[in-house]
Amino acid sequence: MKHLQVDWTRCDGHGLCARLLSERITLDEWGFPIIDGRDLTVRELSSARLAVRSCPRLALTLEPTVTPASR
Ligand code: SF4
Repeated sequence: MKHLQVDWTRCDGHGLCARLLSERITLDEWGFPIIDGRDLTVRELSSARLAVRSCPRLALTLEPTVTPASR
């Protein structure tokens, strides 16, 4: 399983990610993303990958979810 993460040192609040994955990303009042960091569903993964590839600041990443069983 994978989830989204934002590198806040890179993100500049373009908001493109929220347009590409509105089911999981909304924007705060300044245009910075609010990420639903729960595991993505299989159906959401392709949109999530597109959002990651499209981020102009390379701030958005897909990370594997570490569960107790995978440690
Ligand atoms: S697209 Fe990238 S830079 Fe823009 S708000 Fe999303 S994470 Fe931040």
